[in-house]
Amino acid sequence: MDTLAHGLWTNVIYQRQRSIDRWWAIFFGVAPDLFSFGPFFVTRLIDNAWPAGRPSLASIPVYVSIIYSYTHSIVIWLIVFGLVVLWRRGRVWWPLSAWLVHILVDIGTHTYEFFPTPFLFPLSSWKINAINWADPTFMIVNYSLLLLAYLEIYRRRRISS
Ligand SMILES: [Zn+2]
Repeated sequence: MDTLAHGLWTNVIYQRQRSIDRWWAIFFGVAPDLFSFGPFFVTRLIDNAWPAGRPSLASIPVYVSIIYSYTHSIVIWLIVFGLVVLWRRGRVWWPLSAWLVHILVDIGTHTYEFFPTPFLFPLSSWKINAINWADPTFMIVNYSLLLLAYLEIYRRRRISS
């Protein structure tokens, strides 16, 4: 799924968390794309070649796919999640679960054609050929659902205030 939608959905899912945890969740909800594609987009901006929509595969440097494998792996997530639990003496830090949600969503919204999710990296290169997030129908449905979710959040806030 696109990074903006990842961020917006994370905010919806973690709506009931206290503000600081919600902001951390939003950070981890977009981080997998931010750290892999972020530097590439910045260099494109500097080169004045801001990509309109999805960039062509040939234009994407190798380092992007390498970082992408780390940030989109459930194996890597489990290791980091476990280390954080250990560091916090057994207490789970829930905002980190937004990173897992990102990976799970991506598994269902990428095809073999463009960055299928390497969710078992480095144990296996097995990937799933699912829905294309850039497909206009998917985009319309996804952003319509987001709009409904935000209207509902707004409605509930008005009732409670
Ligand atoms: Zn992603």
